[in-house]
Amino acid sequence: MTDPANRATATRNAWLATIERHRHDRDVPGSKQYWSPRLDTASRDEIASIQNDKIAAVAPFLYENSAFYRRRFDRLGLVPDDLRTVEDLIGKWPVVDKLEMAEDAAAQPPYGTYTAMSDALWAERGWMMFSSSGTTGAPRVFRYSHFDRELWAWANARALHAMDFRSGDTVFMITGYGPHVWAWGVQYALAKMGLPTLPGGGMDAKARANIVIRYQPTILLCTPSYALHLCRTLQTLGVDPRTTAVRTLFVAGEPGMSIAATRTRIQELWDARLVEFYGCTEASPHVGGFSCPHSQPESGPVTTHLLEDVQVWETVDPQNRDAQQDGERGLTVCTNLNSESSPQLRFLVGDYTTLDRSRCPCGRTHVRAIGSFSGRADDLINLRGVKMFPGQIEHAVRSIAGIGDEFEILLTTNADGLDLMTVRVEHQAGETVATTVIEEIRSRCEIRAHVEVLDPGTLPRTEFKAARVKDRREKR
Ligand SMILES: [Zn+2]
Repeated sequence: MTDPANRATATRNAWLATIERHRHDRDVPGSKQYWSPRLDTASRDEIASIQNDKIAAVAPFLYENSAFYRRRFDRLGLVPDDLRTVEDLIGKWPVVDKLEMAEDAAAQPPYGTYTAMSDALWAERGWMMFSSSGTTGAPRVFRYSHFDRELWAWANARALHAMDFRSGDTVFMITGYGPHVWAWGVQYALAKMGLPTLPGGGMDAKARANIVIRYQPTILLCTPSYALHLCRTLQTLGVDPRTTAVRTLFVAGEPGMSIAATRTRIQELWDARLVEFYGCTEASPHVGGFSCPHSQPESGPVTTHLLEDVQVWETVDPQNRDAQQDGERGLTVCTNLNSESSPQLRFLVGDYTTLDRSRCPCGRTHVRAIGSFSGRADDLINLRGVKMFPGQIEHAVRSIAGIGDEFEILLTTNADGLDLMTVRVEHQAGETVATTVIEEIRSRCEIRAHVEVLDPGTLPRTEFKAARVKDRREKR
């Protein structure tokens, strides 16, 4: 096996066979409660053994099929055989970040070499190309194959089953069907599960509200911002969202479950349950995080499940990127063991969370994110050394009765060179509530913000992902 092309093919075949060996309950759920009882409730030892088996096969595969990974192995003085277990991986392999990928994409346009997709494979079984929605660096794209599509539908079906999506549900897909992984992955999983969908791209909120009224979908797929926007649209049409057939709001794309005030507001306005997906384009095709019936306990933080037989999840220290123990709050890192196109090793997804590997009351044994995910490290606002997420401001603002759904965070530099934060909100009562807003923000974010209270309906309405932060500070 000295010919590089032969090695590439042989390691690919071995990798795909390893994935297949650990794929159970492919097409129909194995039980009422779990799509794959065998995997979803596997013992911690079984999970570790599957992960190690996959790592031992993916390392040579990446070495032979991705120039980016080969360069990294060589630079680190490692050979594929050095990575055979999760322990090897975490101990020997530094995290891969978006910047490193973006540099590779810039040097090897237009696709970069950080995936194992080749032009020949794309011609043979290419399925769809996605691009990362991140704002860092050059565009990074990811071409996935039909084999990935099938793995994706299966992994997502396990998650959607956990979220209690069942026969009788109709899902209204409120998405523009752009090159973003979430809605596409869900679309194919729903087809596998036999659940009908209403595609909702290319129409305005009023048209979508009329679909909710007329065709009575039971589940809405949308961003948290859009769940609020559509609710207000229904109200202006004289319809109380609580009287519609919608029983589940299935959100992603922005922090949703993790912001208590937003979660409560959406659930109360719709009288429906909020569930979420969490993930990233780089380490698809699979769900990443998902809710279960116990994700919102009576007391204590919300939790989000992850699938450990198809991914390795860990957190690292935000400063030095050293591996952390479970229970320590850090940035998410994912090793993707469920793809022939993009099986990334220790990719820095970069959201803050805390991991817990104890068994969930739902019976699933895989790791959970405690408090869900509070936002990407890229989104962190640093104002005069005080660090906060837009979600913390969101929670403060939405804790106030009567405050509108929209708000803006404006960062500016004044004539003295001092950076300031102005938060714009909407409220009937005008400036009289400004002090309350200032106090809420100060108590939750330890910062004194200026607050402007505008008339309801003044701020632009969010149609998809909210762009809350406008950073107009002078760069120094
Ligand atoms: Zn659970």
